[in-house]
Amino acid sequence: MIGAGLAGLAAAQELQRLGHSVTVVEARDRIGGRVWTSRQWPDAPLDLGATWIHGTEGNPITDLADGIQARRWVTAYDRAATYNTDGSPFSEADEDALEALREELFKAIARAQDGDRDTSIRKATKSVRRGLDPDSPAYRRMNFILNSELEHEYSGSVAQLSAHWYDSDEGFDGDEALFEEGFGVIAESLAEGLSMELGQVVQEIRWDPSPVRVMTDQTEFVADHVVVTLPLGVLQAQRVRFTPPLPSEQQNAIARLGMGVLNKCYLRFEEAFWPTDVDWLEYVSANPGEWAEWVSFQRVAQQPILLGFNAADQGRQMESQSDAATVASALDTLKTMFGPDIPNPVDVQITRWASDPFALGSYSFNALGSTPRDRNILARPLAERVFFAGEATHPDYFGTTHGAYLSGLRAAEEILALSP
Ligand SMILES: Cc1cc2nc3c(=O)[nH]c(=O)nc-3n(C[C@H](O)[C@H](O)[C@H](O)COP(=O)(O)OP(=O)(O)OC[C@H]3O[C@@H](n4cnc5c(N)ncnc54)[C@H](O)[C@@H]3O)c2cc1C
Repeated sequence: MIGAGLAGLAAAQELQRLGHSVTVVEARDRIGGRVWTSRQWPDAPLDLGATWIHGTEGNPITDLADGIQARRWVTAYDRAATYNTDGSPFSEADEDALEALREELFKAIARAQDGDRDTSIRKATKSVRRGLDPDSPAYRRMNFILNSELEHEYSGSVAQLSAHWYDSDEGFDGDEALFEEGFGVIAESLAEGLSMELGQVVQEIRWDPSPVRVMTDQTEFVADHVVVTLPLGVLQAQRVRFTPPLPSEQQNAIARLGMGVLNKCYLRFEEAFWPTDVDWLEYVSANPGEWAEWVSFQRVAQQPILLGFNAADQGRQMESQSDAATVASALDTLKTMFGPDIPNPVDVQITRWASDPFALGSYSFNALGSTPRDRNILARPLAERVFFAGEATHPDYFGTTHGAYLSGLRAAEEILALSP
């Protein structure tokens, strides 16, 4: 098994349960991959990667969470306060204007989805953009809708998201639930009883002839079957060599799919100075996508902590600046929303997923030029020896923890089906 994220842990657990001998080889010195709970603030475990069970009903992560009686909170998107660019709270008229614009944008996207040739979301919404003055509140609201509803969810930029396929994913109904002790409890429970080789950076997979040889920076592992759960970003950057090389169809699918960015910035304050009855704070920024989405932990966790997100181009751009610059820019936005006298945070935690060498992005999206079929091509086994799992290989639930988990079970089934 290569990778101790949810896909790798699920596959390993299932194969071991059915009698196979399994070793999980992981580059980091921790398990979980893009599920990563920080315990830097002992009284407030916080997720630097995945936070929510997106849609709790029928979601396999709910079953895992129930199995270990993991306590959860529920946040709601409509428990939100939205602020204009000048910091004034949204009026009813602002809400109506936003809703009218949203309808217009999604009509334009629906028209593009019916079109013969695929295009980007940005081009698909050109007719709306053209009719607006770039200095107008309506123009900023348009960017806000595209960023907060599409770029944050899919992590790709609207210039790259495929109008035909961006939303080809499926979802579950139910609540958005987050873990009181962090999502890491799921990874920990899935890892129980597994043989784990941490700190082993895989460099090469020699898959022909059999057996498969996995060369790391320190040693070599030999196996009849290998499940590769490397993130799409790592595959795209060809950080791991396949010998012989991957079939060109698979290489092309990898290149066509998109790896997006969603970054988090947790700010901890002495006490809350923002409305404490909401879960989400939204800001129509002048600079598209800059600090547009915030989660407050005050209502659910009684902690004066704000989590600011930056997605896609904005998320990528922020990675190149220092923590101090990121905090200063976050505070600028919060001062606009809540006044110049707000206090400085007592501590911060900031992610840089695109620069993380073992992720190289946050999660995959359907980029212009790709189709959902690319995920099935990516998942194709090599010579009944190398199998692929990971969120990017799931045709319906890509970009999620449940997609990663289910893809791991699928890869395990493929191996189990080989046994007489
Ligand atoms: C900021 C952020 C927020 C998110 N929010 C949510 C959310 O709220 N809800 C949700 O459902 N999903 C969310 N996701 C997506 C979710 O985290 C991922 O889809 C899922 O965790 C991916 O699991 P995986 O097993 O496919 O990949 P990973 O977890 O990335 O596992 C792959 C493993 O391979 C390892 N690896 C990489 N290179 C090598 C190498 N050369 N040698 C050995 N090992 C290597 C990595 O270290 C990693 O442990 C979020 C992701 C991010 C980054």
